[in-house]
Amino acid sequence: MKVAIVKESAPNERRVALVPEVVGKLTGGGHEVLVQSGAGDGASIPDASFTAAGAKVVAEDALYAEADVVLRVQKPTPEEVGKLRSGQVVIGLLQPLIDPQNAQALAKAGVTAVSLDTLPRTLSRAQSMDALSSQANVGGYKAVIMAADAFGRYFPLLTTAAGTAKPANVLILGVGVAGLQAIATAKRLGAVVKAYDVRSETREQAQSLGAQFVTLESVADATGEGGYARELTDEEKEAQQAELSKYISSMDVVITTAQVPGRRPPLLVTADTVRAMKAGSVIVDMAASALGGNVELSVPDDTIVTENGVTIIAPTNLPATMPGGASGFYARNISALLTHFIKEGEMTFDFEDEITEGTVITHDGKVVHEPTAKLLSEGGAA
Ligand code: NAD
Repeated sequence: MKVAIVKESAPNERRVALVPEVVGKLTGGGHEVLVQSGAGDGASIPDASFTAAGAKVVAEDALYAEADVVLRVQKPTPEEVGKLRSGQVVIGLLQPLIDPQNAQALAKAGVTAVSLDTLPRTLSRAQSMDALSSQANVGGYKAVIMAADAFGRYFPLLTTAAGTAKPANVLILGVGVAGLQAIATAKRLGAVVKAYDVRSETREQAQSLGAQFVTLESVADATGEGGYARELTDEEKEAQQAELSKYISSMDVVITTAQVPGRRPPLLVTADTVRAMKAGSVIVDMAASALGGNVELSVPDDTIVTENGVTIIAPTNLPATMPGGASGFYARNISALLTHFIKEGEMTFDFEDEITEGTVITHDGKVVHEPTAKLLSEGGAA
């Protein structure tokens, strides 16, 4: 089978779908790997490294003409959908629940679209394919590094001949995959770390990494389906913001990672709360997006400094800022999902299988992924 990787076209996207090590495994398994020239540039992987791993470097037109399966990080643009042909398979983080129209266009083109972001994450046999977790892990790490860089003082306690520097007080809001990595990273840098989440099972996880867990009196456990949080009621949201405000105002660094699937990210840090923070404090809003983030004042993909001297950083694609590390993990996830579908050298889709049912979005000219089809019939996006 011919498996191809494209050069990503989304702005600031520096990741690449496969790295040479994983290319070597695929070619070793008898597959041919085509690489669009320059695909690895953003991740500092030259064409020559792909060639050395057994891939063939080709121009874009040849890639789309020859490939059986196209691997990518982000969803194809409408122009790229036009380049795919009927019967081809495309695999990536296609976001069908955010952009169901893109899925519809892929169905119309007769393309089989497979999306890593709709993988059933609680299946243990799907762990190695879980790109949302691997990329959130990268993001949680990088958020702390960015905060430490923007913070004008030390993270660790330092005792020197010139005096003692107090450790930074860091609060992590949202203890999912990104939050746990943020706790671990901030602890490694020597900060005093507190953490909070609405799912009570996260208490032990945060504590096991050395964080103090913050318990709010006003909000009870809000565990929802599939290990995720449910959306809070309006009363709960208001009470949560007010109670959190007391903790946040004494922090040096706050990193927010809270998400609720299919909903806007919850607002955890209001403008009033930021006004109560000390000059020099830093907030990183990992949930920032065009839909809004966890921090009222955050501006997606920008860094602002408020009148009272608080820096608010709102990166929308942190994994792309660590393209080598993020691509390495992503490549293993996507190749695990790809090889799951290969039976006797061909892509085979068994819709009785939960992984297939969860990830195959379009097939045989139709949108077959039920949640995406439902969204399209309702005429909207999540
Ligand atoms: P996510 O990105 O959807 O959310 C991040 C965190 O924000 C979650 O921990 C959530 O509880 C929290 N949150 C949501 N609303 C909040 C609020 N109002 N206040 C405070 N915190 C809030 O989640 P994720 O990191 O992708 O995954 C979350 C969980 O899903 C994991 O911790 C795990 O339990 C489960 N999961 C399981 C597997 C598996 O079983 N293999 C794999 C991945 C994830």
